[in-house]
Amino acid sequence: MSVNPFLFNTHDLPRRAGEMREYELTIDKHDALGFEVLAIAEDEPIDIDLRIESVAEGVLASASVRTVATGECGRCLDPVSYDVDEKFQELYAYVEDPRQARKKAKPGKKRVAKEEDDLDEDLVREMEGEQIDLDGPIRDAIILNLPVNPLCDSECEGLCQGCGVKWSELPDDHQHEQADIRWAGLANWDGKLDGKLDGKLDGIGPL
Ligand SMILES: [Zn+2]
Ligand SMILES: [Zn+2]
Repeated sequence: MSVNPFLFNTHDLPRRAGEMREYELTIDKHDALGFEVLAIAEDEPIDIDLRIESVAEGVLASASVRTVATGECGRCLDPVSYDVDEKFQELYAYVEDPRQARKKAKPGKKRVAKEEDDLDEDLVREMEGEQIDLDGPIRDAIILNLPVNPLCDSECEGLCQGCGVKWSELPDDHQHEQADIRWAGLANWDGKLDGKLDGKLDGIGPL
């Protein structure tokens, strides 16, 4: 996705501590979020109640996020849907003048390792100009709270391993003899070979 749909422009918020603005956002198109078994589909709307506040260090974003994850039951494979309703709060720090930041950096601390930079960025999110990127906090709020083993019902009994039919649709006394699984196709065989097969099956007859 070329344009990040989670970038939000804060230009309406005065840069004066204590100022606050509230928004109701709906994001209709985004990358799918979640796991193979349970995810927010890429066209599933994500509703966000967003409040942004000016604080001394930057912009504080508080949000509640609502959407629906869909997937399949880990036991019976029936479709399942899961209501997501999560909250997060995230501080976006004003970016200092890069030249100032370099002067303030401790002498001897090399900032060459790519991983180190990524790690630093994770600790404090920064404004991108007037924009804040809600992607990370929304992703975390949703994905960290999705069940990894979704079930259609906590009581779901799953599928019979013998025939793949749901236990809830099978009679109580349903069972498979071990022989039934392997020799089901031979159950009615009278032991005689069909004429057409004669010759091809030499050596397979009765011992
Ligand atoms: Zn199930
Ligand atoms: Zn069965």
